[in-house]
Amino acid sequence: DYDLRIGIFGAGGVGKSSITIKFTHNMFIEEYDPNVEDEYTKEIELNDKKILLKVLDTTYPQEIYDPFPRWVEYSQVFVLIYSIIDKYSFDEILNYHNYSIKKIRKDYPKILIGNKSDLTMKREISIKQGKELARNLNCKYIETSAKTGENINQLFYESSLLAFEELKNK
Ligand code: GDP
Repeated sequence: DYDLRIGIFGAGGVGKSSITIKFTHNMFIEEYDPNVEDEYTKEIELNDKKILLKVLDTTYPQEIYDPFPRWVEYSQVFVLIYSIIDKYSFDEILNYHNYSIKKIRKDYPKILIGNKSDLTMKREISIKQGKELARNLNCKYIETSAKTGENINQLFYESSLLAFEELKNK
């Protein structure tokens, strides 16, 4: 049996908690306390192996003395999330990458997520822009909706595969 650890990163309000809870509890909550850091677990099967998937739902780092380095250490794979209806959160992905995560870990496995795909009427970031950013980051791109559940399992399946590879390479 294996433990895999997935870190969920992204600006406030992009849906980090919603995605995590949709996957682990199959629930969608409209209001959720944004200021808690939480670890959730779920058992999955991957390549016929039982895996305990640990998902760390982080909050946006505010201070120099925040637990950010610890979160980076914890994560075998990084789920970088923005909201397709929030340009600011899209721009924040590069900040996360260049000024936060990469400072601590030069190379890391990741996946880029454009969440809130159900709100296409309010879309500020096109699929093309998402794909372009993913190409720059050298990772996969998936659009999800924590509300409808679209691609949520896919997100965690792809992330688990990456984390599993990371584990084997160590
Ligand atoms: P976090 O701060 O990144 O953890 O974001 P939350 O999970 O707290 O979500 C922020 C708000 O966006 C909440 O009101 C959620 O209900 C809402 N939300 C999250 N994901 C989606 C989604 O896929 N679609 C829609 N329509 N709303 C979402």
